[in-house]
Amino acid sequence: MEEENDMPNELEGVALAGERPRALITGITGQDGGHLAELLHEKGYEVFGLLRGQRNARREALETEFPFINIIEADLTDQTSLIEAVLTSEPKEIYNLGAVSHVGYSFRNPQLTADITAKGVLNLLEAMRVTGYSSKARFYQASTSEMFGGLDYNRPGNGYNEDSLFHPRSPYGVAKLYAHWIARNYRESYGMFISTGILFNHEGERRGLEFVTRKITNAVANIHLGKQEFVTLGDLWPKRDWGYAGDYVRGMWQMLQHDEPDDFVLATGETHSIEEFLALAFAVVGITDWKRHVRQDKQFMRPAEVDILLGDPSKAERVLGWKREVDFAGLVTRMVRHDLDLAGRS
Ligand code: GDP
Repeated sequence: MEEENDMPNELEGVALAGERPRALITGITGQDGGHLAELLHEKGYEVFGLLRGQRNARREALETEFPFINIIEADLTDQTSLIEAVLTSEPKEIYNLGAVSHVGYSFRNPQLTADITAKGVLNLLEAMRVTGYSSKARFYQASTSEMFGGLDYNRPGNGYNEDSLFHPRSPYGVAKLYAHWIARNYRESYGMFISTGILFNHEGERRGLEFVTRKITNAVANIHLGKQEFVTLGDLWPKRDWGYAGDYVRGMWQMLQHDEPDDFVLATGETHSIEEFLALAFAVVGITDWKRHVRQDKQFMRPAEVDILLGDPSKAERVLGWKREVDFAGLVTRMVRHDLDLAGRS
């Protein structure tokens, strides 16, 4: 005990944390929050998750699915709550996954998106600084391929990499670009260990139904079981570089274990249209004439569209040894099978 009291200030948190590393995750109720919490728990971390708002409706589900998570009530827009969250969790690693994360929603709620997705990061970084955690904790910022925008003039043939030009095409993309640069700025200005992961679309069983992949796989399961006749979508030609979220959270963790903070693209290096996704998803349940089950409606089309996203993950593969394990067909198949299981039970 005495020894601990004699420690210089900057080591206090580390000493109190003991042997078990502690991680603080924002966005714990989101897709990546769940995958990452599971991964860190398996690795022996004590996991803390920020939960927003009084009586958050998702609290019970979170406690049931992940009883090991220590929940801290805090809000990315409330600086004081973030300071308390850092002091309570004494983290070795902070993963900032919290955001308004849906592109369509961000067009309808651009100011809220800016407050949370952009300024929330600044609030959290400042909370680290005022508590002395800028030198005690490593920070991961969830950046996104939506920062690139997919326009012809800035589209490299072999995929966007860490040095490609940004041209975001939605309030979400713009807010994420601020977050990306403020994170880099704090790394450069204050020498903080901050890494950004520029992640291309990553999906899986935990994906929300508001995203096109899960909307499709959920509908395919229901159509196969005769519970639904068709699915209504927006444009079918946009192309995305879709990977599996479980592979991507492993990359986040690897970024914070690396010797140096840096920026890394995580992607599969393949791009597929929504039409291709549809064809494959329907094929899993043996439906080939899938077009008769698909309708289109303007309400699911965007004021500005990202035509095509393709990422080049070679830096992460080379420097971190990261490799995705699930390919496009594997992703679609596991999502459809999961939704068949769910739909079969209800
Ligand atoms: P995003 O890439 O982060 O915007 O992920 P989404 O899954 O929301 O959208 C992927 C692509 O699917 C975008 O080009 C959308 O315009 C397109 N899309 C077509 N129909 C739909 C739909 O019904 N819902 C959603 N979310 N996207 C759709």
